[in-house]
Amino acid sequence: MVEDGQNVEGGCLCGDIRYTLHGPTIFCTQCCCKDCQKATGTGHTTIIGVHRDQLEVRGTPKIYLTHGDTGGAVSRHFCGNCGGRLYTSGDLPGSVIMVQAGSLDDPNVVTPTTVIYLKDAVAWDRFDSDLPTFPAIGKRSAEDQAKLDEIKKRPVKTMVM
Ligand SMILES: [Zn+2]
Ligand SMILES: [Zn+2]
Repeated sequence: MVEDGQNVEGGCLCGDIRYTLHGPTIFCTQCCCKDCQKATGTGHTTIIGVHRDQLEVRGTPKIYLTHGDTGGAVSRHFCGNCGGRLYTSGDLPGSVIMVQAGSLDDPNVVTPTTVIYLKDAVAWDRFDSDLPTFPAIGKRSAEDQAKLDEIKKRPVKTMVM
């Protein structure tokens, strides 16, 4: 996890889009949903939850708008030049965004703690067997949920969608 007061850098493959992620990260999870498979071309994606204001983006990502499992709008941000996936935001102007862990310069700064949408996982994908798995959207511990609810209440100041 990226701690409070810790900043980490990331960006796309070609470097046109760069970002600074300000800790603390709220959650880190493996998502096996069909959308993540199609969007990344992999078995699952690893996402990090942060408040939108914690991500400082340099450059202008392209946005692909779609609808999530629960019917809400989902914006997938990626580099228009190299196609590198960067982050996903929910119902605009939702305050929590999900950053693609693999876009960090050092993805080892985070550790996934859950696996979600296991019902969609492909037969050849593998996960740490110590991690709790959920058929669809995950359930958080009361402590994590309280933290997330608190962050959702924080106003969004950044102009980046
Ligand atoms: Zn790029
Ligand atoms: Zn997903």
